[in-house]
This record gives sequence, structure tokens and C-alpha cells, in this order.
Amino acid sequence: VTDGVGNVIGRSSASRRLLVGSHLESQNHAGWLDGALGTIYGLELARAFAEDPACAGMGIEAATWADEESHFLTYTGSKSFTGLLGEADIDNARSRTDGTPLREALEKAGYAGRKRELIEPSRYVGYLEAHIEQGDYLEATGLRLGIVTSIVGIWQYRITFAGVQNHAGTTRMAIRKDAGLALVKLANEIDRRFPEVTGERTVWTVGRITLEPGAPSIVPGRAEMLLQFRDAERSRLELLERTIQEMVGEADRTGPCGCTIETISRSEPVVMSAGFQEALERAAETHAPGQHIRMPSGAGHDAQLLARHLPAGMLFVPSIGGISHHWAEDTKDEDIVLGCQTLATAARIILEG
Ligand SMILES: [Zn+2]
Repeated sequence: VTDGVGNVIGRSSASRRLLVGSHLESQNHAGWLDGALGTIYGLELARAFAEDPACAGMGIEAATWADEESHFLTYTGSKSFTGLLGEADIDNARSRTDGTPLREALEKAGYAGRKRELIEPSRYVGYLEAHIEQGDYLEATGLRLGIVTSIVGIWQYRITFAGVQNHAGTTRMAIRKDAGLALVKLANEIDRRFPEVTGERTVWTVGRITLEPGAPSIVPGRAEMLLQFRDAERSRLELLERTIQEMVGEADRTGPCGCTIETISRSEPVVMSAGFQEALERAAETHAPGQHIRMPSGAGHDAQLLARHLPAGMLFVPSIGGISHHWAEDTKDEDIVLGCQTLATAARIILEG
């Protein structure tokens, strides 16, 4: 069935069922595997299990989730399927590219008025999703399969500096309250202090800096940065939060500009099912002995929403050069095949279990 937000979900009449899939579209100007790989694996598994008499009673329901990449909303399809999307959310959503209302886009696609499918957890043994790694960890370590242990939590903040806007020619350096300069100093300090408290795979990014009014002949009176960090452990995220709050406090006390921090969002790290990790590891060892590793996912995936209702597992295949969200995104043919075989074997281990 294709539902009211464009999710496509297959149905199986088998008695034990596993939901297997990924997402439909990628970013604009992006590659051919992000989302599509896991979706096609789901279809392939569904067909293979349906055809194989040895798999009688075991069914795969292939699924693909709409708009994982936030063209209209974040995780539109999987949020809808897991009951986190209201009709008002759909009413208010617009394309971030051209402003088209989501309602209009759904109507154009022929989905208006269709029912939105809702998860029935009792229908499934669990959820499996395969995806390209989108980083270079597997390639750099010479490995071919990644078994996802958890999906990182993403915490985001707005840090604001209040200075005094003034003439860039006549205001003596000694009396300036330059909000832009204060911001750059803090950004530098983050890069110096964070490595003392981060884990091996923690990442942090200052993704946007705004200076006001933003002119060459004006000392900035106000400056703002968006800071984001990601880690798979909540305790680590909390430590990073305490650290940035301390740093902002210090910057505010020492001046000359006021400095404040505000939380924008905090998503929780999501742990994948231990049993599913075990099954994926056994399957990986069957098809690629010694060429797999357990690793966290630094990117968000639909699996983090499905994992709220079902035991969930994820498998990564390498991305050539670690490139993704770019048209050059690719994976070796033999790794694409290996990933599908491994996912099928894992699905069988789980459905037999
Ligand atoms: Zn993706």
C-alpha cells in the first residue's frame, strides 16, 4: 500500500513477519544509494523469502519511508507511521526548496485523502534497515560491514553575544565591545577544550555564524553561532553540555560582551536491539569473516523512530571515499551484494529465533 504521506509498505501473509526498509528520497543533487539501497534490499528480501520453501511461515514486509531528508518535515514518513505526525503538522509543512505546501504536493502525487498507515507492533518481530555508511570509517579500516550499535543523539544550541555596535574607524580598540571577535574567541576555545572531554567518535560543529549588522565598517553589536554535537552516549552529551555552559559562563563573566546559551533541540541516542546486533554479526561472520565491526551511526535514520516500538537493527556497507549527499556517492558492487546477503541471513536468523 502507498499511504497518505507517500510511505510504501508491503504486506505478507506469513505468520512471523519482519519489517525491512529504508527511505525514499535523498537530498537534492545527492546520490543514488542513500535510502534507495535499504529500500531495494527490503524488496529483494521480501521476494527471496516468498519464493524459498525453506522460509515458509517467515515473511518480510518491505517498506520505504517518505521524506526522511526533511524536504517538508524531519522523518515525515516514519514519524507518521509511528504516530508522531498530526494532521496540523502536515497542514503547516512546506517544501524548504520552493515553498510548496505539503498538502498540495501530496495531492499532486495522488495521495490526498488516503489513510496514513500506523504501526501495529504486534504484527512484527522487529525492524531491519540497511544503509550506506556515509562516512569513511569502514573504508579506512578495510572492513566491509558495519553493525550499528546505536544512533547518536544530536544536541543543538544557539550562543549569542551582546556587544556594542559602533563605527569601525573611530572606535578605539581598547573600548570596543566587539561581539564578532568574542564569538570567534569562543569558537576557538571550543576546539581547544572539547577534545579534553569528548569520546573517540564525538563530533561537534559550529554550523552557522551570524554577525549583526554584518558590514565592513561596523563593529558587530550582536553575534550568534549555532553549535551542534553528536555522541552515542547520553552521559557524554551531558558532559559536553556542562562544558559549553561553563565556557559560556566564563565568556560572559570576563567580557567585554555578554554571552548567553539557549538549547535548540536534544535528540536522544537510540540503542539498537542486542539480539538483532547478534544476528547481524553472525550473518556478517558467515558472509565476510573478520571483515565486520560494531559501530555507532553518526547520522540519523528512520530506524531511530521504529526502535521506539520494535526491536530494531541496522547494517552499514562502505561508502567509497566516505562521500554521501553528493552525486558521486557510490559503493562497490560486491559490497552492495554482500550487504544484501548479510541482511537476508540476519533476517532469517531473527525470524527463526
Ligand atoms: Zn539516508
